[in-house]
Amino acid sequence: MLKKMSVEEIAVTGKKVLVRCDFNVPIDENGNITDENRIIGALPTIKYLVDNGAKVILCSHMGRPKGEFNPKYSLAPVAKRLSEKLGKPVVMAEDVIGESAKKCTANMADGDVVLLENVRFHKEETKNDPSFAKELASLAEIFVNDAFGTAHRAHASTEGVSHYLPSVCGFLIQKELRVMGGALTNPARPFVAILGGAKVSDKIGVIENLLDKVDSLIIGGGMAYTFLKAKGYHIGNSLCEDEKLDLAKELMKKAEMKGVDLLLPVGSIVADSFSNDANQKYVPSDEMPDGWMGMDIGNTTIEQFSKVIKKAKTVIWNGPMGVFEFPNFANGTKAIAEAVAKAGENGAITIIGGGDSAAAVEQLGYADKMTHISTGGGASLEFLEGKILPGIDCLLQSGKKNIIAGNWKMNKLPSETEAFVKEVAKATEGATCDVVVCTPYVCLDAALKGAKDTHVKVGAENMHFEDSGAYTGEVSADMLVNMGVEYVIIGHSERRQYFAETDETVNKKVKKALSKGLIPIICVGEKLEEREAGITTELVRLQVKLALQGVKADDAANVVIAYEPIWAIGTGKTATAEQADEVCRAIRAVLAELYGKSTSKSIAIQYGGSMNAANAAELLAMKDIDGGLIGGASLKAADFATIVKAAN
Ligand code: AMP
Repeated sequence: MLKKMSVEEIAVTGKKVLVRCDFNVPIDENGNITDENRIIGALPTIKYLVDNGAKVILCSHMGRPKGEFNPKYSLAPVAKRLSEKLGKPVVMAEDVIGESAKKCTANMADGDVVLLENVRFHKEETKNDPSFAKELASLAEIFVNDAFGTAHRAHASTEGVSHYLPSVCGFLIQKELRVMGGALTNPARPFVAILGGAKVSDKIGVIENLLDKVDSLIIGGGMAYTFLKAKGYHIGNSLCEDEKLDLAKELMKKAEMKGVDLLLPVGSIVADSFSNDANQKYVPSDEMPDGWMGMDIGNTTIEQFSKVIKKAKTVIWNGPMGVFEFPNFANGTKAIAEAVAKAGENGAITIIGGGDSAAAVEQLGYADKMTHISTGGGASLEFLEGKILPGIDCLLQSGKKNIIAGNWKMNKLPSETEAFVKEVAKATEGATCDVVVCTPYVCLDAALKGAKDTHVKVGAENMHFEDSGAYTGEVSADMLVNMGVEYVIIGHSERRQYFAETDETVNKKVKKALSKGLIPIICVGEKLEEREAGITTELVRLQVKLALQGVKADDAANVVIAYEPIWAIGTGKTATAEQADEVCRAIRAVLAELYGKSTSKSIAIQYGGSMNAANAAELLAMKDIDGGLIGGASLKAADFATIVKAAN
């Protein structure tokens, strides 16, 4: 997931800022808000804007007023409650883009807060009507989206306005991206996903996406019975989607092929009717009697699931393990909540997908034990499916970071590595750019020890594109990830020259690395005769295109491209800063053609080829050079630190 620019990265003082919040709170017949969690959730972004002297214009939807004014869905009670929470007046406009909205927002002082009426009082909102979006945008100078729950919808107030205003995310969306996005792109392992709830059909996309990423997939709740039936068990009157039996079989086969440990209930608490007071008993999964239905997972299953969960370092949970709304069938969900909380205590990142699982965790009293409870139901599911959410996609990219990576090549011994990496960490302390050391395979373990608890990241110099098998002498992405390695150099010219690396194998390796959450540093560059023949730009463009064939924009944003003129590697010759920048600019242009301008800007392009302590500052000052891949100079901590300083 791309890193989006946040409200902290844009100047807001004195500016009118339109903030899309999720104030869709439950209100009783007397107009009282019965759950203010969403208002509390919106406060950090609003307070930040007020404290920084912005003129804050809030908008939200509430309920489904079907495109026309309906006092039942007025946001006025929210304005009142928000004002109490902020300790300052919140002016309530009587409309969204009409006279009242214009009047209320016309003469705001810095730090003032106005709440517009329910955006869904206009049918144009859900239709994402451009002229409505333009009118709404005209009230402000900056757009902040902080409503994750509606980010999967391209509505006027979630996506439309971004066409007219610089658009960034608020703190709520930022956290969703950081925690959930982080887990999906670079999870600490073992990574365990727990899926439950009523329907397989709601979660197919999630299962498919997660099968590529998790180590274990636990399936419980009503949806488990479709899988059990697909395995040939009788399931009595339990929930089942017969039309999904083939798919369930296919998913189980896929899990096996990918080496994902898929766990299903080995026994259930069954009931003779769908009610809290029904007769109940425990039955193993292969002894389900006719006329009974599975309502909760049994104790042995709880034990098996919990054992896996407690060992996890990343847990994502979406969907209850049983009919938790009935206290007599809430035991499984409660026990799993407890196991997830325990994993959290042991240092795991624990994420609860929104909707019913969030409700279950809150109802059962485990909410504050989780790293993150997503504020979106449908949005959270689509995020876990790997879909691009329009309300997030439309936001500006966060500024990319410079990256200095050392490529040790075939140098240094494992025995000297730990101390050397510690020295590098010390010498580059406080670096604002990313600092990476890429070492021979046998040094990685020691490098990771040296880099532990420091800002320094560790990379490998190569990897194989297959997951495992008869490839004597090779190392897989999983092996690197398992060690804690985060980067991998792919397609270095020396590998292309001496070890038969081709554009095809580079592409396979890039895709594999990305699918495992490794950041590939993809090397491209021309030989001397190619430069002399005047085909440098053309050739490098082609290398980039071939390396990224089949890589989607979301993934591409995570790659690093290293431009290394082969004639300048290890020869002491360097391209002039202008020559280097010219090629890097051409790389940026091809990235923009492939993925759009904003993604191209978020991809770091390094220069490599005899970058050293003496010439780094000049090279790194060039517009399209975002860092360096450093050979010889990375073997001396002091020289490497000088280059890092130049990048800072
Ligand atoms: P979902 O919205 O798909 O996450 O489903 C949540 C709903 O699934 C909750 O209302 C649960 O009561 C229901 N559920 C969980 N397990 C079962 C089950 N074994 N049989 C019927 N419904 C279930």
